[in-house]
Amino acid sequence: MSDIHSNLEALTAVLSDIDEQSVDEIVCLGDIVGYNADPNESITLIRERNIKTVIGNHDSRAAGLQEPANFNAKAREAILWTRNKLSFENKNFLRTLPLTLDIGDDFLIIHGSLDSYDEYIYTEETAAWNFGLMNKRGGSKLCFFGHTHMPGVYAVNGDIVVGVRGEGKEYDLNLRALSMYLINPGSVGQPRDGDTRAAYIIYDTDKATVSFKRVSYDLNEAVEKVSKAGLPASLARRLKEGW
Ligand code: ZN
Repeated sequence: MSDIHSNLEALTAVLSDIDEQSVDEIVCLGDIVGYNADPNESITLIRERNIKTVIGNHDSRAAGLQEPANFNAKAREAILWTRNKLSFENKNFLRTLPLTLDIGDDFLIIHGSLDSYDEYIYTEETAAWNFGLMNKRGGSKLCFFGHTHMPGVYAVNGDIVVGVRGEGKEYDLNLRALSMYLINPGSVGQPRDGDTRAAYIIYDTDKATVSFKRVSYDLNEAVEKVSKAGLPASLARRLKEGW
């Protein structure tokens, strides 16, 4: 899962969906906080369930590791609000999160790109650059990333990079042994592909399949909390509209 962004309603709906499917391990590709109204509650759930997580660009700013200088005005306002709300322990937890993490020999997880949590993988060119970094680094040929909030897949075979965006669709993808993959599950707490449902994926290591999932959640409750918290009104609106 990725990009929870303090949306507790979306996070709990995704976790209960996952719990029905005999999953061995849950991992998170960063941005637990930012934008929405439940930063502490979201971090607490991640910590309670021992979900391995990498640091996202919003996590870093909310924890005070960096200033949100390059953020747009609404995102920056939400970061400053979040910083004020976060408990000492939860800030410290965010500060300890790694930039990249190998999940056994199976796959690698990152937030933005292999280089930085601020960089986006959103074109075949940016994917090609990151496949190059994966080659240089060795190890797994499969990497999961977030940050764009857009579900999709980039595959490389030889020199050819192909990207497929899967907006609002639930589908299974069979992974081929010779290819390398960069895969984005989409966002739990702020989907941007026009589908308001929370997004995540299940990777089946035995069957070598990746299944893109969507889950409905209590959107009205999440929206109301954003408004009540005094966060920018457009952050509530974008949840309702899926952007
Ligand atoms: Zn994000």
